[in-house]
Amino acid sequence: MGTIRAELHQGKGVSFARRIYLPRTIGLGVGSVCVATALYPLPSTHWVWALLVLHAFVWPHLAWQWARRSANPYRAELRNMLCDSLAGGIWVGLMGISVLPSVAILAMMAMQNIAANGLRLMLQGLLANACGLLLCLLVLSPPIQFASTMLETYACLPLLVVYPIFIGWMGYKVALKLSEHKRILRQLSRTDSLTGLINHGSWKDLLQLEFSKARAVHRPCCVALIDIDHFKAINDEYGHLVGDAVLKTFSQTLRDNIRETDLAGRYGGDEFCVILPGTHLHQAVDVLERLRQVVDDYCDAQWPGLKVSLSIGIAPLESHITEAALWLNAADKALYRAKSTGRNRVVGASWETDHEQRMPASA
Ligand code: GH3
Ligand code: MG
Repeated sequence: MGTIRAELHQGKGVSFARRIYLPRTIGLGVGSVCVATALYPLPSTHWVWALLVLHAFVWPHLAWQWARRSANPYRAELRNMLCDSLAGGIWVGLMGISVLPSVAILAMMAMQNIAANGLRLMLQGLLANACGLLLCLLVLSPPIQFASTMLETYACLPLLVVYPIFIGWMGYKVALKLSEHKRILRQLSRTDSLTGLINHGSWKDLLQLEFSKARAVHRPCCVALIDIDHFKAINDEYGHLVGDAVLKTFSQTLRDNIRETDLAGRYGGDEFCVILPGTHLHQAVDVLERLRQVVDDYCDAQWPGLKVSLSIGIAPLESHITEAALWLNAADKALYRAKSTGRNRVVGASWETDHEQRMPASA
């Protein structure tokens, strides 16, 4: 259990480190132009320039490898980001706290920190900036020159323009990915995993919706409940895997035999349900009788003895049905009648006449 958790953590951490890799490479690349322009007129030694080159062009790749190979990449990446902030403070000191490049660099770092891990990391980053600056002032005592030259102002422009656009674009990509994940999750939560049909809960919601719509515009609509006959016996004789295959094949047959606008779901177990908007009872009976016939004609080369038949109850929405539950109940009663009168048949309920149309079972 602990190992699984560690692996999950590692996976999450590596993707976090990967997400920071490109912004760091770009940010330090364009940021180094600001620093170089501010350092140029100052009496800097060779090692400062070497350090700038290493930090801007080698460190991003080193940091990524370091985090990637670490036992906890997430923590390692947070540590790397704080190293960036500490170094940012040192560069501000070495630039003599020249106002424009200093503010540009610190603001971009704060933006990167808050975008990556929220307010906490941003505050920690600012603290690391302050520590870096203090360290630089105490140890190296660089000459301080707050005023920024025109050249430094121009040198800051790429950082001020390119980096925020890049961070915005990254944020947009994350938002797109999130909404796609949300869509998939929503879809999964509405779907029955075995058959791919709408699951019980979502179908009931749709039933309520269609009930209200059909009543509001006085449009005909039917609901059908379909149950596989003696399905338990199929399971018992051929096993659950074959039973599952029958459910899947039947679901596909159901989809193939109704219109795109009809709403088919798995009610549960071997029971299925369909809403047929804009359909009168006799039309629904025709559609479901055709389905019953197709299933009755099933013949599987691998299991020649396997016979599948359906009992189907249909209820039209009639004016005195005041609740979706009553409508479904009418279909359930019709299904019960189909079962109790011999199975392998379609029964349509008619509330007005209390008459039930029964299609005769095929020989
Ligand atoms: P009837 O003609 O009266 O409908 O008889 P039946 O055997 O079909 O009805 P019953 O409700 O007794 O049995 C339904 C069976 O469906 C029982 C259950 O084990 C089986 N079942 C429910 N869900 C699944 C599933 O996802 N896969 C498989 N293979 N079997 C399932
Ligand atoms: Mg059954």
